[in-house]
Amino acid sequence: MLKNSVADINCLQSNVNQLTLDLFEKEIRIIRFASNHSEARRNIMSKKFSGGCDHINTHSSSNPIDNHTCHCSVCKRVTGQPTTHVAFFNHGDLEVDNSEKMNKQPFNDQNPNGPLELCTCSECGTPLMLDDKLGRIRVIVPNIMGYEEGFPAPTYHAFYDPATGVPRPDDGREVYEGLRPEFVWPPEK
Ligand SMILES: [Zn+2]
Ligand SMILES: [Zn+2]
Repeated sequence: MLKNSVADINCLQSNVNQLTLDLFEKEIRIIRFASNHSEARRNIMSKKFSGGCDHINTHSSSNPIDNHTCHCSVCKRVTGQPTTHVAFFNHGDLEVDNSEKMNKQPFNDQNPNGPLELCTCSECGTPLMLDDKLGRIRVIVPNIMGYEEGFPAPTYHAFYDPATGVPRPDDGREVYEGLRPEFVWPPEK
């Protein structure tokens, strides 16, 4: 009788041990999950701006250095839009994953030796950015380069040319015939 009880207790003890072990493992799995999750969150959070296509991601943790509505004829021709929301990033701030999958062509086909190159995805053709051969800036057109609608709104009108006959914008934002006068180009690399 006593012998049986001891055996029962031993058995019970080993069940409890197993249960504790199971719980412990479960807890470790939960901790691991939580830490992976928060790391994934951190990765997303650290990329303040993220865009591109299914094959190539472009991203920046820093704000654009210039953010304007462009009225120039090249943007009109390339995007087919009457005006184009254009954001300049410091060249080093806008990073590209899988850049080897990118095709590059002159942004302005009428000035093929100009510094800006239009980068597109070699798999799906999505425009990804304009890259500056001189290493000063990288340019994003948020609405056609995979950026979300929450992208900060352009702060002024650039390259407005009255000779085009387009009425001067009167939405309260400054209008310039070039970039805003206080804009300073980052140094060439
Ligand atoms: Zn333009
Ligand atoms: Zn693609």
